[in-house]
Amino acid sequence: MQNVFKALELGELNAGSWSADGGWSKDASAPIIESVNPATGELLGRVQTASAADYERIIRSSREVFDKWRMVPAPKRGELVRLVGDELRANKDALGTLVTLEMGKIKPEGDGEVQEMIDIADFAVGQSRMLYGSTMHSERPRHRMYEQWHPLGVVGIISAFNFPVAVWSWNSFLAAICGDVSIWKPSPKTPLTAIAVQRLVNRVLSKHGFPGIFQMFISAGNDLAEKFVDDRRVDLVSFTGSTAVGRKVGERVSARLGKSLLELGGNNAIIVDEFANLDLAVPSIVFGAVGTAGQRCTSTRRVFVHESKARDLEQRLLRAYSQVRIGNPMEKGILMGPLIDKSAVERYQSAIAAAKRDGGTVLCGDKVLPGPGNYVEPTIVRTKHESPIVRTETFGPILYLIEYRNLDDAIAMHNSVDHGLSSAIFTDNMQHAERFLAATGSDCGIANVNIGTSGAEIGGAFGGEKDTGGGRESGSDSWKAYMRRQTNTINWSPELPLAQGIDFKV
Ligand code: NAD
Repeated sequence: MQNVFKALELGELNAGSWSADGGWSKDASAPIIESVNPATGELLGRVQTASAADYERIIRSSREVFDKWRMVPAPKRGELVRLVGDELRANKDALGTLVTLEMGKIKPEGDGEVQEMIDIADFAVGQSRMLYGSTMHSERPRHRMYEQWHPLGVVGIISAFNFPVAVWSWNSFLAAICGDVSIWKPSPKTPLTAIAVQRLVNRVLSKHGFPGIFQMFISAGNDLAEKFVDDRRVDLVSFTGSTAVGRKVGERVSARLGKSLLELGGNNAIIVDEFANLDLAVPSIVFGAVGTAGQRCTSTRRVFVHESKARDLEQRLLRAYSQVRIGNPMEKGILMGPLIDKSAVERYQSAIAAAKRDGGTVLCGDKVLPGPGNYVEPTIVRTKHESPIVRTETFGPILYLIEYRNLDDAIAMHNSVDHGLSSAIFTDNMQHAERFLAATGSDCGIANVNIGTSGAEIGGAFGGEKDTGGGRESGSDSWKAYMRRQTNTINWSPELPLAQGIDFKV
């Protein structure tokens, strides 16, 4: 741990806000929060949170940096993101370890999260030469119409604990190539990873110019976070977190007619039909339900299995679950680490209790393991879809197994929940696969065939519908959310014809 902290320039007490004009804040007036390793209960470090004065400085300096940054050519902006990506490459092991220590995901997943940052950096570099606008044919002679994309301004990024660094990079790297300045408010549950990332970024940006395109503050309570959401100087609020908080954030931002990008919860499901190859389905379900201890927004929470395959799938899942090694996520061979904190353990217990009350049968799990870490056993409950708990997102390793007889019913049940993030079908039947992907099929932002619900690649647009918030981040044309569109019409004729042929002569 000492080496990691040294490599990432972390100490026992760390400043939790950074602005381009003041550097790391020395203001000690706000509360100090502690970062605790969820696997051991050990104190990792303490963080001095941001004061209201820190916040004002960050906003002011971000707006000042934006005034200059927006005029830097986009490919040059991309070059800076490339250098930041290289710094992440060089520090992947240390940062991946810190993600594991602070968030509790297993080390390969901690490293994978840093790899995702590197991947999106590469993607953003390429995208910086492709901020394309369309040209249109004007209905008027000797007129030219086109649209162009301009930088939007200051982008506020509020992120969740479960992807403590990747979500920031999805937003901030695209925002940077689009000419925006971003301000990050990370989860107070994972403050050290955020500070470490800011330090890595600062090393690059102060060497190559433009320190301040990425700024941050950590707040203990919600006062500053809410001020941030309400602040008209923040042009886009990109929020990743629970639906309950995201709904409030969305409402507040729209009350000021601001822009928001919402990436909220998921209640993701897999359909295993009568033609499914269980050799593919079983490991995908286990990875989706048990990976990251069920704390991914795309974690598999519901499985609809055709009655002809139900017993077989159940037996195979039980065999696979019995082989999942639970323990310290830094250890080799461990597949499931702890939950983030004690209240997550309580939510796990009360969800299983509710499932049992509704008539569900626990097939395995339902156990809190002895501390000091927040360990629980991954749990499978055979149940009915009518059980109300099945319709909610419990952020933990609980899987609900539900039998069905015909595919239309399975799709209807699949779509009957509030969330709409990720979904999958396992089938070797082309008609069933296409039925699932059709307009009348899955209503989610992500729909897969013979691949599970979690582990998305950065190249596609990521996000979902309904209570998932409707936002899209990462690949495809998600960059457009970070820019403002302008339509331009140029008249190069000596006349002044009006559109729609309107005659208006004075
Ligand atoms: P959370 O909603 O508790 O917190 C998310 C962020 O919001 C944190 O930074 C928190 O400090 C901040 N926050 C809390 N109250 C606020 C307020 N009143 N105003 C402004 N900000 C406020 O979520 P969490 O427990 O950290 O993360 C888990 C949730 O995030 C799950 O529901 C998961 O599905 C979701 N998530 C979604 C995605 C996605 O891309 N769709 C990705 C990761 C996590």
